[in-house]
Amino acid sequence: MMQQDFGVARFTRRDAIRVLAAGTGLGALPALTGGSDVLAGLQRTGAPGALTRRLPRGSIIRTLLRDVPPEALGTGAVLFHEHLSINLGGLGRGGRQGAPPLAPVTDNVDLIAQLVNKAGTEGVSCIVDGGHTDMGRKLDDLRTIARRTNVHIVASGGFYMQRVYPPDIATRSEDQLADDLVRQATEGRFGAFGEIGEDPNGAELTLDERKVFRAVG
Ligand SMILES: [Zn+2]
Repeated sequence: MMQQDFGVARFTRRDAIRVLAAGTGLGALPALTGGSDVLAGLQRTGAPGALTRRLPRGSIIRTLLRDVPPEALGTGAVLFHEHLSINLGGLGRGGRQGAPPLAPVTDNVDLIAQLVNKAGTEGVSCIVDGGHTDMGRKLDDLRTIARRTNVHIVASGGFYMQRVYPPDIATRSEDQLADDLVRQATEGRFGAFGEIGEDPNGAELTLDERKVFRAVG
């Protein structure tokens, strides 16, 4: 199986994707061991500190700015599906007919940074942004927010749903998409995959959506 170098360890691409996409949405990468026992370790028990105790030694959280040990999150809350930068105007919903689309509120980076800092004072230690390029997520805005707060900011990779997929997705194989996701995660310092969705108006997954779900793992 193809090997990928994540800078901390060599393990399989599938391991990398499974770890990044694990239930909490946290991008915990094992520096010393393979990923097989990491998934179980990522399940919170609800007790403060439980997440840290059950992770393999050497695990990291890949935030936008740096890799941190799980202990860096302390006992604060982790919000694993937020949108600090998003523009779903491409989905064709919302707004008055014929009117130019309104700028998304998240374009106001100053405001979002203030809200993130407020959340930090209320006990939030980490926010995992669930957007990606095809959802209008602006990575530079997330980086700006991350530099203005002590709350750890984790960015995500992925493809959202059929209506916003890049056109070439139909020509990409499942394995090619998996490689794309790993490359994007490495280049963008993504610590999670998500959100991965399906068209809510569709009776079932499209062929491309099925391919994306399988590529993510
Ligand atoms: Zn969402």
